[in-house]
Amino acid sequence: MATPTAPDGRAQLPTPTNIQMVDLKAQYRAMQEEVDAAIIDVVRSGAFINGPAVKAFQAGLEEYLGADYVIPCANGTDALQIALMALGLEPGDEVIVPAFTYVASAEVIALLRLTPVMVDVDPRTFNVRAEDIEPAITERTKAIIPVHLYGQSCDMEPIMTLAKKHGIHVVEDNAQAIGATYTFSDGRQARTGTIGDIGTTSFYPSKNLGAYGDGGAMNTNSEKLSVELRKAANHGQSRRYYHDIVGCNSRLDSIQAAVLNCKLPRLDGYSARRNAAADWYDANLQGLTGLLTPARLPNSTHVFHQYTLRIDGGRRDALQEHLKAAGIPTMIYYPVALYDQEAFRGTAANNIDFLPNTDLLTKEVISLPMHSEFDEGTLQYITDAVRGFWGVRNS
Ligand SMILES: *Cc1c(COP(=O)(O)O)cnc(C)c1O
Repeated sequence: MATPTAPDGRAQLPTPTNIQMVDLKAQYRAMQEEVDAAIIDVVRSGAFINGPAVKAFQAGLEEYLGADYVIPCANGTDALQIALMALGLEPGDEVIVPAFTYVASAEVIALLRLTPVMVDVDPRTFNVRAEDIEPAITERTKAIIPVHLYGQSCDMEPIMTLAKKHGIHVVEDNAQAIGATYTFSDGRQARTGTIGDIGTTSFYPSKNLGAYGDGGAMNTNSEKLSVELRKAANHGQSRRYYHDIVGCNSRLDSIQAAVLNCKLPRLDGYSARRNAAADWYDANLQGLTGLLTPARLPNSTHVFHQYTLRIDGGRRDALQEHLKAAGIPTMIYYPVALYDQEAFRGTAANNIDFLPNTDLLTKEVISLPMHSEFDEGTLQYITDAVRGFWGVRNS
């Protein structure tokens, strides 16, 4: 059938149906045989816990990240918690965390009776900077959790310099940025998550490297920390039935590892397709008053876990309604600053209850659909709909 054409001669693409924030089904269809076989292998082997699939994934991720030790665990929140446990912190020790992030990054601090100290972020990159962190450092500060939000690295070099100067641990929350690469001023490159003392990540299904259920991992280049991480994740035991510390039970199960083994070799391809979608959005959303496309840091690649716009003038929610009416889902990551969450009232050090950039971002951000399986018609439909909100003729 010939493609119908609009009066201006442009190809009239069919209206896409069922647009999703993340398209996991299409991604599955592209590797169905391989992933089905891998899952059935685990079921037939009966090696459900710490089976060969888990060991293979651990080795594969070590290789991919360029990390000496990967310790798989049950989810990304556990990974953060276990990372803090491995550092041997004391109740009341302060841990610096951005106020503009997913709750998990700060939750684990409070859960361990440590004190979350929330700091502001850069309104252009959404990430925490050394200059946001420095004024919050006290003699009780024991760790910093930079979060590589939406898929782009924090500017890690100045953060590491600051942490070294004050003797503070760095735990990178890499749940949204696995696969991104940071370049230091001397040209050295490192994957996000491998720059600080410990990196943590999540394999929640909608993450860039998503399992078909929960999963997570920690990584480190320190042998000593690898021992502590493994111990904390495994009931505090270094030998079976001898428990040195109070730990927890956090494992990646073999079926999830089998799925991840199929996906890990495809991760860079997924990132490239996410970048192609982001490039489309960037190119087709220019010149709209009050709309800011996401800033790209010159020294980090971006893996676009989210493609997040800023909409000023109090029009963000109206844009969201406009897109919803066109069948386009969007998400607000995150609508509330962590210091404004009921759970954290009164827990943060210095009674932080307002940070200007965080406050602004909670009101202005909106994330568009982002995944690895777009066709151009869908992307065009989305950007046309956004432009329509401004009454601008289609691109
Ligand atoms: C998803 C996520 C987590 C938690 O991962 P789970 O596997 O859902 O526990 C932590 N931090 C950030 C920034 C995340 O996006």
